Formats: sequence, C-alpha cells, structure tokens
Amino acid sequence: MLYRACKIERSAMPRIVTATKDTIRDAAALLKAGEIVVLPTETVYGLGADARDDDAVLKIFRAKNRPNFNPLIVHVSNKQQAATYVEMNEVASRLTDKFWPGPLTLILPLKNGAGISQHVTAGLNTLAVRVPAHKIMRQLMFEADMPIAAPSANNSGEPSATTPAHAAKSLGEAAPFILAAGACDVGLESTILDLTGDMPTILRPGATTLEDLEPYLENVTYDIAPKDKEKVKSPGQLLKHYAPSIPVRLNAVDVEEGEALLAFGSIKFMGIKTGGHAKDMNIDSFRNLSEEADLEAAAKNLFMMLRDLDQPNHKGIAVMNIPEAGIGIAINERLERASKS
Ligand code: AMP
Ligand code: MG
Repeated sequence: MLYRACKIERSAMPRIVTATKDTIRDAAALLKAGEIVVLPTETVYGLGADARDDDAVLKIFRAKNRPNFNPLIVHVSNKQQAATYVEMNEVASRLTDKFWPGPLTLILPLKNGAGISQHVTAGLNTLAVRVPAHKIMRQLMFEADMPIAAPSANNSGEPSATTPAHAAKSLGEAAPFILAAGACDVGLESTILDLTGDMPTILRPGATTLEDLEPYLENVTYDIAPKDKEKVKSPGQLLKHYAPSIPVRLNAVDVEEGEALLAFGSIKFMGIKTGGHAKDMNIDSFRNLSEEADLEAAAKNLFMMLRDLDQPNHKGIAVMNIPEAGIGIAINERLERASKS
C-alpha cells in the first residue's frame, strides 16, 4: 500500500483522486510516510500532515508559502484524543460534548511532552484543536491514526479552497495528492474559540455562531476586528486575507463598468452605472451567493464564487450587502479582509 501511495506522490502535477476506501488508505499511507495530502473537511479543503513530524509540517508551510509565525489547527478523531495533546477544562469538555464533531476549533493549553511539532504551534504554549465532521476525513483519520495538522489547501492569503479543482489551481505542483469529495458543505473555516484567556473569546467567526455557543458558555466575546501586523494576537487576525487577485468592493448598490458582481438575494433593482441591468450581465461576470437570500447557502458558495469571478478581464468584484446575523457575521468578516488592499 505504501508503495502504491509513494508512486502517486512522485507525479509532478497535482493528482485529483476521488475518495474511495483504497484511495483513503493511499492518503493515510502518504501521511504516515511524512508527506502532505489535500483532504476534504466540512469547512474547507485542508492541506494535512502528521502534526508530530517536524519535516512534514514544514512541507505545509512551504507549499502554502505560509509565514512560519502563523500556527496550524490540529485535527483529531475525538475528545479523548484531543485530551492527550491539550489540557481540557470543564468548559472545553462541555463544548466538545455539544459541538464536536463540527466546525468549532478550541484553543487550549498545550500539554507538556504532547509530542506536537513546535512548527504547528509556532512556538506558542497553546494549541488549536478540532474534531471534523466530514465522513471521508473521519475515515482518513481512522486509517492514519495520528493528529493531522491542516490549514486551508490554498496559497497563503488567498480565498480558501472549497473544491478539489480550486485546491489544485491554487497549490499546483505543491500538492501532489488531492483526496476529492466534492464541494465542502459549510464553505467557511471553523469558528476559533480561545479558552486560554480571562474570557472565552471568538478569534474567528464561523458556522458555530455566538448564539450557538452562548447557552453553554458565559461571557463569550468577539475579538475579530482586522488588525495591523503589530497588534495581532493570532495571525489569522491580519488585516488582509482571503483575497482574490483583483479588488473587492463591499456593500455595492450598483455595478461599475468592468466589474464582476457577486450578488446576494434579488437583483431586480440592481443597475449598471453606465446603463443597463445587472440581471443582463454576462454569466462569466455574475454569481449569486443565494437567490433566496439564504445565509448558509451563501457561506457554502462564497469562496468558490470569489474564485470564479477572479479573472483578469474584471477590474474588480462588487459584492452586495450581506446581513450581519448568524453565519452572515462570518461571511462579512471574510469579505472585510478580502476587500483590504
Ligand atoms: P487556517 O489554518 O488558515 O484555518 O488558520 C488557522 C487559524 O488558527 C489562524 O488564524 C491561526 O492564527 C489560528 N491559531 C492556530 N493556533 C492558534 C493558537 N495556539 N493561538 C491562537 N490562534 C491560533
Ligand atoms: Mg487559511
């Protein structure tokens, strides 16, 4: 099996491999051999490696061109496995019972001698952990039997990859093996909740919302405003992120000449500044996150559609207003950073 997997690894171009029992084993064999693999999760595609292996983890940073001060999330199979790497307190235990498996990452104190590569934590004494819900990812974790460090499967700073094709396009030869399982259900990265400070703090909003957490957690607050480099606690808070290669203009009420449109809801009254209606725009220049104004559907489509519209013939992407409620908060946080220059 290892031989089969290594043969795949040697090919120069990214290989998109449909997830089956056999190819999941191939992916696990590659991880065990210290290689990196693109893997499906319910949030976004991840670029995974054995979190205990320094060399393997460094391959992730190189493939993504990710700054080495930006720590990675470690994916584990269950709460018991998480507890071998981090100090679980009562609050963490309650939250994991309720929200794992699922799109909630907890930051907890790293256990002494946990064996996690220091490159994963960027030298911090805390660790970000999560139990993913995706069926294929869960089978892969079972086969690989290791903690898997995995950031999003795209070049650092770009919109996250939510389809195998987008991971391949973004990473190119840097990702030789892509375990493909269609588009990700959630489409946005996990909620990150820091439980190591005085108050539980959401560092990144996601599908697990503040309202979801509140019944299980007192005094939870946000610390998600984009910050300048000097002021970041977590590198994910950096000002510019998730950004296409062309400008993104938010809260658009009309379309400027040469712009593509990322719509949300009805575009009946949306016009083009130089004349005409948005509804008559060319299909290559127009996407609707959700015609029914469904925020969950919009989250699922966001990165996929931003990437679709990121074409050199567009001078930018105009994005309609998204309501600041539920997962809309996470969508707006991503868009806010995507729009920074
Ligand atoms: P990504 O891998 O792109 O989904 O990003 C992971 C996010 O988790 C980044 O924003 C990191 O800064 C954040 N993160 C990971 N580990 C920690 C940690 N120990 N403390 C604070 N933030 C963390
Ligand atoms: Mg990322």
